[in-house]
Amino acid sequence: MALEAQTKSIVAQFDYTDEDVNKGVKEFLRQMGEGLEKDGTSMSQIPTYVTAVPNGTEKGLYMAVDLGGTNFRVCSIQLNGDTTFNLTYTKVAIPKELMVAKTAQQLFAFLAKQIELFLRTHHEEHFEAHVRRRLTVSSPDGYMDENVFRLGFTFSFPVQQSGINKGTLIRWTKGFDIPDAIGKDVCALLQIEIDRLHLPVRVAALVNDTVGTLMARSYTSPGKTGAVLGAIFGTGTNGAYIEKLENLKKPLTGEYDKSTGDMVINTEWGSFDNQLNVLPNTSWDIQLDKSSVNPGIQMYEKRVSGMFLGEILRLALLDLLKDPKVSFFKDENSSSNDWKSTTNIAEDSSIYTEWGIDTAIMSVAAADNTPELSVLRQELESTLHIHSPAHDDAEAFKAIAGAVARRAARLAAVAIAAVVLQTGQLSASNDEPVDIGVDGSLVEHYPYFREMIYEALRIIDGVGEEGAKRIRIGVAKDGSGVGAALIALVAAGMEKSTTTADYFSELRSHAHAQSTSLTAVLEDNDEVTTD
Ligand code: ADP
Ligand code: MG
Repeated sequence: MALEAQTKSIVAQFDYTDEDVNKGVKEFLRQMGEGLEKDGTSMSQIPTYVTAVPNGTEKGLYMAVDLGGTNFRVCSIQLNGDTTFNLTYTKVAIPKELMVAKTAQQLFAFLAKQIELFLRTHHEEHFEAHVRRRLTVSSPDGYMDENVFRLGFTFSFPVQQSGINKGTLIRWTKGFDIPDAIGKDVCALLQIEIDRLHLPVRVAALVNDTVGTLMARSYTSPGKTGAVLGAIFGTGTNGAYIEKLENLKKPLTGEYDKSTGDMVINTEWGSFDNQLNVLPNTSWDIQLDKSSVNPGIQMYEKRVSGMFLGEILRLALLDLLKDPKVSFFKDENSSSNDWKSTTNIAEDSSIYTEWGIDTAIMSVAAADNTPELSVLRQELESTLHIHSPAHDDAEAFKAIAGAVARRAARLAAVAIAAVVLQTGQLSASNDEPVDIGVDGSLVEHYPYFREMIYEALRIIDGVGEEGAKRIRIGVAKDGSGVGAALIALVAAGMEKSTTTADYFSELRSHAHAQSTSLTAVLEDNDEVTTD
């Protein structure tokens, strides 16, 4: 009984009421507005210089890489021009030691190596043709235009972008910490390592994963309407949306196409409410923040995204384990266990290690509807080395995990609703859907995550039942790859204005300052291909 009572009290601390949700939306709107007016606010609201989204008719073969936080993905994408695409990809976990490498070069050399492996495996012909040609042209570094893959680089960390393939790292998030890279142009860092390996690849565009998701969803989404928001709920969380130029009050340095009247804004909403005006703050949130590599920042992300939910859960579970009045994952003898064996936690269990619980197990807990919770109990045994967990233990685990995830989903609804309200799309007199593309393992795999978001949307002032019905949230499958390809396509179109001679010298020097705008009149670039 003590366990049940304690569990209830922990679950209650993760309550995020309808009133909290509405307060959250108001504050989110206020902080969005602040970020549009000046620099140095909690939400950066970074202009991306992307002024339009695709319509599904774009064509060509492109490469894309995605440094997300947990994995590095390399892919090639054939855009077919009829809202469909073919994608080949590989994925590799980023070694922990490289996330905190001494130099940026170590990390980027690893990334370039993965690109080489991918080309050798999946584009051998292309690769060989390039190598042959390189040997036959007079300059050893001579590239032929048509043999160069244009690559969209999805880099999901805060970047001050100053051009289509140029941007300096503002700060690391999601557990990365390589001080050497701060303030450097991440495209140049990657291009240098690519060139060291003599790969036929040109980093053509720098893409934030949220912008990529927005572009990808617009390319694939059904109907006439493009997406208004691209949102990530993976290792981290962030969103990019279409804003009216007239609302963007802070000065824009680069050039851009003013004709659409819009610009895509990368909100960097992971840092929403760093000052904790409205965010919930349990003792476990406080502990987690203290032991993170970036205390006091990314406060919204630390309550919402995959990297952190498992750790919040772990800290709450540890409190239960420490409580002498409660019997949790231990019993004196097997007679109290319905599995007829004695429960204990192995000493080496990662439940005792910081960041030792992967959020993925929360999905297992939520999905297990067997009366005995036998799937979850087996998972506890295999991943956390908790031997013979009792049914009550598993119930407590499931309840707390569910509460942490539910709060995250309701917080996610705060961001989504605020952006939708900001765009004014719901008050438009038509009944077109308001389309939103989402990506990331949490939203994709956690059972009912989207349903919990919708449940919260329905009680938000200004959205309500009717509004929630019009909001269409769709997973942008392979979003970062397709989105990066689409932006690389725009970038390739812009290169046409450069003469061939200029283009070669630029490739060799890497010093060329690209036009600073991504004037995405995508329809004009239908025929741009690299192959
Ligand atoms: P990235 O952020 O690198 O692009 P993902 O979108 O795959 O990668 O997100 C990885 C994060 O999602 C990790 O924090 C991981 O703990 C979490 N995660 C992975 N699988 C699941 C799952 N089945 N349910 C919930 N969270 C998951
Ligand atoms: Mg991702």
